[in-house]
Amino acid sequence: MCGYGRAVWTPGKRGRPAITDDPDPWPLCAPGLNGESVPMRDRSREEVDACVVGAGAAGGVVGAKLAEAGLSVVILEAGPHWSPVRDFASDEVDGRKLYWLDERITGGADPLQLGENNSGRGVGGGTVHYSMIKMRLQPHDFRRRTLHGAVPGADVQDWPVSYEELEPYYEEVEEALQIAGPMRYPWGRRRHRFPQREHRLNATAEVLVRGCTRLGITAAPAPVATLSAPHGRRPPCVYRGFCHYGCSTNAKSSVLVTYIPRAIAAGAEVRAGAMAARIEHDAAGRITGVLHFRGGEARFQRARIVVVAGYSIETPRLLLNSHSARFPDGLANASGLVGRCLMVHTGEQVFARYAERINQYKAPPGLALTEDFNRELPGADFTSGYTIECVGPHVGHYAAQMAAARGLWGARLREAMLDYNHVAAFGMVGDVLPQRANRMALHASEVDGNGLPVPHVVFGHHENDHRLVRHATATMERIHAAAGGTDLWASGRTAHLMGGCRMGRDSVDAVVDRDGRAFTVPNLFICDGSVFPGAGAGNPSLTIQAVAARTADRIIEMARNGELTRVAERRSA
Ligand SMILES: Cc1cc2nc3c(=O)[nH]c(=O)nc-3n(C[C@H](O)[C@H](O)[C@H](O)COP(=O)(O)OP(=O)(O)OC[C@H]3O[C@@H](n4cnc5c(N)ncnc54)[C@H](O)[C@@H]3O)c2cc1C
Ligand code: SF4
Repeated sequence: MCGYGRAVWTPGKRGRPAITDDPDPWPLCAPGLNGESVPMRDRSREEVDACVVGAGAAGGVVGAKLAEAGLSVVILEAGPHWSPVRDFASDEVDGRKLYWLDERITGGADPLQLGENNSGRGVGGGTVHYSMIKMRLQPHDFRRRTLHGAVPGADVQDWPVSYEELEPYYEEVEEALQIAGPMRYPWGRRRHRFPQREHRLNATAEVLVRGCTRLGITAAPAPVATLSAPHGRRPPCVYRGFCHYGCSTNAKSSVLVTYIPRAIAAGAEVRAGAMAARIEHDAAGRITGVLHFRGGEARFQRARIVVVAGYSIETPRLLLNSHSARFPDGLANASGLVGRCLMVHTGEQVFARYAERINQYKAPPGLALTEDFNRELPGADFTSGYTIECVGPHVGHYAAQMAAARGLWGARLREAMLDYNHVAAFGMVGDVLPQRANRMALHASEVDGNGLPVPHVVFGHHENDHRLVRHATATMERIHAAAGGTDLWASGRTAHLMGGCRMGRDSVDAVVDRDGRAFTVPNLFICDGSVFPGAGAGNPSLTIQAVAARTADRIIEMARNGELTRVAERRSA
C-alpha cells in the first residue's frame, strides 16, 4: 500500500481509479510530481497486452496512449524512477546520474562521444535533461530521395510516412507538452498557434536575433517544452537555467511529468530498474515476452506484443542480443539493417565575447533559432541544410570545451574563465547523411555486468557532413560579428542519435514498416529515434514523439481490427 487506500481499475477508463474496499489491485507506488507517492498496478504476474521497453521520449508516449485505450501495459525502464523535487539538485556534477554511462566501445574515422549529449537513463529518458527545443521536420525532409536523388556513398531514403500524416500527431504532442512558441513561426507549413505564449528571450537569444537581423536573416523565439504559464499542478519556468540537470520545479515538460503520470493513472505499471536483456519468442516466431534483470535477478514479463523504445544504441542491441536458432542474426534483422545507418547531428558551436553581461547559463539554453538555412542552399557544395540555435553551457562544460578546443589549461584556462559571463554561443543542428557503414554492433568479447555483449559503435562522417559544418560555422561567425561579438572560437561536437532500425516501405531496405511494426515479427514494434530513415536538421524529439503517437494509434487500431490476433482474442474474451 502507498497510503492511498485501495483502488479498482476499469479497463479503458481514464483518470485516477476510484477508492473502494475491494481487494487491492494497486499494490505498488511511484514517485509523483511533488514528492508524493502515487498508486500503481502490479502487472508482473500477468500476460500483458503490451510490454514497452524504455520509458523515454517515445516509450512514455506509446505507453500512456496504449494504457488509456484500455490495453494492459508494463513499461520496463533500466534506470530509476526520478522524483523531481527529491532527486534533481540543480547541480552540474549531480546531473551526471541522468546519462546512460554504461560501457560502450566507439571507433571508426570519427568516433562518437556517447553519454551526456545524446542519452538518458531513467523514467523520462533523454527528456529529463534535454534542451527542450521542439522542432517539426520540414515536409521536404520526408521526401529527400525523391526530391534530391541519391548521394554517392550515402543511403538516402524517403520516409514511409509523409509530413501530412504526421501533422495531427505533431499537434497532439505539442498540446500534451504545452509547447511555448511564437504567435507566427516563420518557417515550414502554416500551422496552429502553439498552446502557450513564447518565452522572453535571454541575453544569448537577443544576441542571436540582433546579429541575424543585421544580416537580413530571419530569427525567431524557439518552440520549447517548458511552461510559460501555469498548467495543471505545474508552475511556469523560473529561468534559473538548470534544465540539463533535471528541472526541480516541474516547469519542464519532460515525459517524466507528462506522459508517465497519464500512463500510471490509466493502469500501466512503470517498472524502473528493469534492464531488458532478451525478447523471447515461441516456436512459431511470435514474441512471448521480455527477459529482464532487476535487482540482480532475471525475471520474465509475459506480453502479447512488445514495443522497443530504448533509442538508437540500446534498441538494436536488444534485438541483436535476442538472437535465436530461428533468428540467428538477431530479431527483425532479415535485412541486415539492425544497428546500421546510425546518425547524429553535427553540433559545432561558435563562441564570442561581448561587452555586455550575457550570463549564458541563465534560462533555458535554446530560446531563439533560425531555420533560414534548413533547406537546399543555392550554390552550396553540399546537399541538405542546418538550423542555428543559441546554447548556454554551464561553467563545467564551458571549461571542458575551452580546454579541448583551445588547448587552455592551468592559469591560462583560469584567466579565460573570467570572461564566462560575457560570452554567448550559438550551435548548429546539421543534417548528417545515413551510411550503412555507420553502425552499432555487439562487441565480440566485452560484456556488461549482466553478461550482455556491450555495444560497439563505428562512425565516420560523409564528406557532405564536413562541407555543411564549414558553411554553418562561417554563418555563425558572421552572425556573431554582426552582433558585435569578438574573440571568436569554435568547438566541434555532435548531438542526438537517430537511425539504427529504420522504417521503410519494404523488408529489404528497412527493419520496420510505416507503423513501426517489424517486417518479420508481427507482434514486435519499434518506436523511438532509431526508426528515423534520415536525420533532418532539427532537434528530433518532437518527431520521435509524433511518430510514437502515430504508432500507438496504429497498434490500438490493429488490436481492435483483430490484426494483432492474440491481443484481440484476449480483449474480446
Ligand atoms: C543534453 C541533451 C539535450 C537535448 N536537447 C534536445 C532538444 O533540445 N530538443 C530535442 O528535440 N531533442 C533533444 N535531445 C535529444 C532527445 O532527448 C532524444 O532524441 C530523445 O530523448 C530520444 O528519445 P527516445 O525515446 O528514442 O529515447 P530516450 O528518450 O533516450 O529513452 C530511451 C529509454 O530507454 C531506456 N532503455 C534503454 N535500453 C533499455 C533496456 N534494455 N531496458 C530497459 N530500458 C532501457 C533508457 O534508460 C531510456 O530511459 C537532447 C538530448 C540530450 C542528451
Ligand atoms: S530554467 Fe525553467 S525549465 Fe529550466 S530548470 Fe529552470 S524552471 Fe526548469
